[in-house]
Amino acid sequence: MPEETIFSKIIRKEIPAKIVYQDDRVTAFHDIAQRAPTHILIVPNKLIPTVNDVTPEDEALLGHLFVVAAQIAKERGIAESGYRLIVNVNRDGGQEVFHLHMHLLGGRPLGPMLAR
Ligand code: 5GP
Repeated sequence: MPEETIFSKIIRKEIPAKIVYQDDRVTAFHDIAQRAPTHILIVPNKLIPTVNDVTPEDEALLGHLFVVAAQIAKERGIAESGYRLIVNVNRDGGQEVFHLHMHLLGGRPLGPMLAR
């Protein structure tokens, strides 16, 4: 079994977070260190450490992350102006929390995709 992270505790509401959406498959909450006016993490309730651990049975779950991301972007009024979805993987990807999650960033021009 993969080791739980702080995100499992947030999902179970054992520690506080600003949750903006939750259903039986995903939980979305504000990132504690916001890098943009909107910075929300969309997390599968199931503990999958990284994209490397994804299996075909996760296809629908991961598709649901995008559905929820689009819904939150619309609710926050940034769907038309635009936003960025990021999934970091392991060391070179800059992953800090080993519970797969999608960053939803927007509310200002985000600039080039990568620093040069
Ligand atoms: P990663 O680098 O793994 O893609 O992103 C992890 C993100 O989780 C970071 O942006 C970090 O600020 C956020 N984070 C880490 N610990 C907590 C926490 O306890 N609560 C919340 N809301 N966000 C957290």
